[in-house]
Amino acid sequence: MYPLPLTQLSGSNVVLSERASNIHMTTTPGSADPIALQLDHVSRHYTLGASAIRAVDDVSLTIRTGEFVALLGSSGSGKSTLLNLMAGLDRPTSGAIHADGKNLAALSSSNSHATGRNTIGMVFQSFNLLPRMTLAENVELPLRLAEVDHAERDARVSEALQRVKLDKRSAHRPAELSGGEQQRTAIARALVNRPKILFADEPTGNLDSATGENIMNLLIEIKETLGMTIVMVTHERPLAEKFASRLAIMGDGKLLSDGATTGVKQ
Ligand code: ADP
Ligand code: MG
Repeated sequence: MYPLPLTQLSGSNVVLSERASNIHMTTTPGSADPIALQLDHVSRHYTLGASAIRAVDDVSLTIRTGEFVALLGSSGSGKSTLLNLMAGLDRPTSGAIHADGKNLAALSSSNSHATGRNTIGMVFQSFNLLPRMTLAENVELPLRLAEVDHAERDARVSEALQRVKLDKRSAHRPAELSGGEQQRTAIARALVNRPKILFADEPTGNLDSATGENIMNLLIEIKETLGMTIVMVTHERPLAEKFASRLAIMGDGKLLSDGATTGVKQ
């Protein structure tokens, strides 16, 4: 069904650019679902002196609502750069990215709030919680930045902390929690603005494997209850195969292969 069965990809550095550019998801299961994110020939090049680094090189990809996409690839293959572009945290050098039908390039930071592009949530490997703030204050932060009414904030914060089962710890500070609990707090913070897409960059990279699996199960539960789309960077292929519905494999800034996982998650 897919142009490149995953079993044909032994080494992740095999470059299949000619064929990769043909992989458009016309045969994706659930292809009737609305498009959450569309990338057309997206590149992000850095110039260092005379040399150009093609961190992301001509990537085209369509992600539909409700998919759980894992971006895999070796270190330096461009996964984080691509994720940041999808999240609108960085701009492509060339190419276009549409989220929910809107061109990200057309949304400047000043009008992104007004146009509804406060709909991203991001989780990182290192949690990035503010140590002096309580869990509740950490989770509330995006609501303050989005100028959500005071009256509404408390309810939204408790809802988000309940979702990650940490409502009883809301007055604690991050250092009083385990790594897994800190990551759950970061997930609550990412969800509090009710994003349509959750982006995660190596969310289990600092966790032991059992805790990492708990986090993945939590992400699946959230995806299913809230009908979210998830895009996750990881270099742990077994984890991606077990939990994601689709693997997109990068090498040298290019998308090498892209297809459904064999495990059935949804
Ligand atoms: P990954 O997340 O897959 O490990 P990255 O997206 O972080 O890879 O990086 C892809 C490539 O782009 C690497 O070669 C990296 O050194 C380079 N790169 C990333 N950010 C910058 C930057 N700000 N300036 C110059 N080169 C960068
Ligand atoms: Mg990275």
